[in-house]
Amino acid sequence: MNPVLLVTGGSRGIGAATARAAAARGWDVAVNYARDAAAAQAVAAEVRSLGRRAWTLQADVADDAQVRALFSALDREAGGLSGLVNSAGVVDVAARVDEMSAERVARMFAINVLGSFACAREALRRMSRRHGGAGGAIVNVSSVAATLGSPAQYVDYAASKAAVDTFTVGLAREVAAEGVRVNAVRPGIIDTEIHASGGQPDRARRLAASVPMQRPGRADEVAAAIVWLLSDEAAYTTGALLDVSGGR
Ligand code: NAP
Repeated sequence: MNPVLLVTGGSRGIGAATARAAAARGWDVAVNYARDAAAAQAVAAEVRSLGRRAWTLQADVADDAQVRALFSALDREAGGLSGLVNSAGVVDVAARVDEMSAERVARMFAINVLGSFACAREALRRMSRRHGGAGGAIVNVSSVAATLGSPAQYVDYAASKAAVDTFTVGLAREVAAEGVRVNAVRPGIIDTEIHASGGQPDRARRLAASVPMQRPGRADEVAAAIVWLLSDEAAYTTGALLDVSGGR
């Protein structure tokens, strides 16, 4: 039986690229999504075309009850778990902090931070040797925004990713002796649909000149780092925050 990987936000962008790259490396993949079932099913079909098992599982990671139901469904359908990639995440339209509503900031943290906590908790209950599991790996998808702060764009997003970084380091040390490694990638400007969701569809192209490599990154370039962190090649790597940002 192949190891099973759950990718939250696996229906598009970096999560979808991770599902494909993981399948190519021998993982069976559960593709979580929030709204777009057809996109998730297309990714699952690609995983199956590589000879792996795939499942599509709808859940809003910001809703704790839905996260618990997601993992229960995974228990029933896949019968095990060895890896989790927390890729589900959102930005919002560009705004200054003095223009942000409480609802906006709460949603940002609910999805990007609390969702990652909830999924990691459920994964640990299945993977940690403390709970009778066989070990595993978690990769959180943070952002270089955590270090840049994203002024006049989305400081709330940047702060949520800084929380993901600290969560990664703390959790890595907490469970290091239980067979679970926890790392993060910090992508720079990656050409995905997330920029359009923040009202800036041309953002990746527009900011390319500000990147030392003079181009946006591709989702598959981030996925390559994620699947390495999931793999046994990274057996002694935990608590790492790996920038995949073209030098940004
Ligand atoms: P994307 O193309 O917009 O894809 C987002 C994915 O997350 C979709 O699969 C979406 O599913 C899912 N999702 C959104 N809200 C969710 C929720 N509440 N519960 C479950 N799933 C949810 O984004 P991306 O660019 O691949 O970003 C992936 C991760 O990389 C995010 O954490 C983002 O912050 C981070 N990142 C991206 C960049 C970049 O430049 N693209 C840079 C740094 C970090 P539906 O389509 O079904 O809604």
